[in-house]
Amino acid sequence: MRSPIWPRPTPCSRTAGPELRVGVLALQGGFEAHARILRQLGATVTEVRGAEDMDGLDGLVIPGGESTTIAKGIESSSLEPALRSHHEAGRPILGTCAGLIVCDSEHLGFLDATARRNAFGRQLQSFEADLAIDGIGDEPLRAVFIRAPWIERRGDGVEVLASYEGHPVAVREGAVLASAFHPELTDDPRFHAIFMAMTTSARQRAGEEAAR
Ligand code: GLN
Repeated sequence: MRSPIWPRPTPCSRTAGPELRVGVLALQGGFEAHARILRQLGATVTEVRGAEDMDGLDGLVIPGGESTTIAKGIESSSLEPALRSHHEAGRPILGTCAGLIVCDSEHLGFLDATARRNAFGRQLQSFEADLAIDGIGDEPLRAVFIRAPWIERRGDGVEVLASYEGHPVAVREGAVLASAFHPELTDDPRFHAIFMAMTTSARQRAGEEAAR
């Protein structure tokens, strides 16, 4: 299946129309920095710690941190069914770093792709790079990598938005957007703006379907 073409985001602008409700999985890791950027872009943010927090969300962010800990937290808080129904309803998900790993085919399976953990090697635990990213304009994005994975294998439906040294580090498949880097750790909101544009159009589509 080909991914739909999402509208191009307008950098730095707040989303027009009613506020979007975006959840940030807050079991472990860097959820607060995501919440701050999402609020700047006009979202109403909910910290998700249990299934009840998933009610009425238009989009969900799975942050970076430690993928084993986040995966265990999802299990111990019985969140998996709610995450699956969010995904099956076509509501967007943004997974960053450990969040990308948690979405891969060896974990929740929201991406037909396999991540390789700590792929850039021990010497290169963390680094920054300017990345050309499809869909955010000509200006490269400063990307912060911290013990980052890369995408080792991917299915045909997975679109690569950015690569570093030949390895995919930003991908999209349907309503799932994922990055190996931390877009929440710089002041540049353009990567989150892609996610907000996906979330806006998914909600519009759901509203149109409900009105039919
Ligand atoms: N190395 C971590 C893991 O494998 C991910 C690091 C991060 O999220 N910054 O889960």
